[in-house]
Amino acid sequence: MRGRHPVSVFWFQMRLTCAARTDPGRRREANEDSFCTREDLGLFIVADGMGGHVAGEIASRLVVQEVERFVAATPSAAAGHAPALGGKGSAGDRLGAALVEANRLLAARIAEDAALQGMATTAVALLSEAGDITLAHVGDSRAYRWRAGHLTQLTSDHSWVEEEVRAGRLTAAEARRHPWKHVVTRAISGGTDLEVEVSALALEQGDRILLCSDGLSTVVADRAIAEALRVDRPSHETCDELVRRANNAGGPDNVTVVLIEAHAE
Ligand code: CA
Repeated sequence: MRGRHPVSVFWFQMRLTCAARTDPGRRREANEDSFCTREDLGLFIVADGMGGHVAGEIASRLVVQEVERFVAATPSAAAGHAPALGGKGSAGDRLGAALVEANRLLAARIAEDAALQGMATTAVALLSEAGDITLAHVGDSRAYRWRAGHLTQLTSDHSWVEEEVRAGRLTAAEARRHPWKHVVTRAISGGTDLEVEVSALALEQGDRILLCSDGLSTVVADRAIAEALRVDRPSHETCDELVRRANNAGGPDNVTVVLIEAHAE
């Protein structure tokens, strides 16, 4: 086979399918979470907005839409096209550049409208292109991997409690109950100091990746997330079960889950 990639890339190429569910929870009327599932682009995102009035909703929606638009408009290097924005044009470059663009757009919207001052959003995103899979996140929206009966948290929260856990001053259970559990140390806020954490991901046939907002992970422990994933059933039913568990635990926050499954082609 001719081209820029060895044949093995095509052997191990993954087709990703997904199911998703979002819910306002039991104590909030508005849902400030946004998500996108573009199987055609290999792009999946969960974003959790914050800000007064409708600003959080605007922030998360704007970032999701801009990342989706950017990825759709910039052909991947793997497709044999020139990368649009310098760099090597890898999935990681594209996803990082998309989030930087979304941050710029957020800054522009805030500059236009004083009522939107202070709006911000977290984001966790997965982009797959021709055997190259990238995870990017800012804030405390998470990605987990389910493989062969084991749940692994792939992202580490950019949050105050996570820093305390790492320093050994809080346990994971204490962190979930802490009054400052929602305080993030990084967010997409239109600022000039945006730091996106990007990593490459290797997927195997049958792996499942869960992207979620903190409305799930704050009230549903990893053990209970694993219990829901262990049951063999359609992905949309697993998403329903995860949301049910968050609501049964009080549903204090908006909850969004995107469950992606890897199929070898
Ligand atoms: Ca939240």
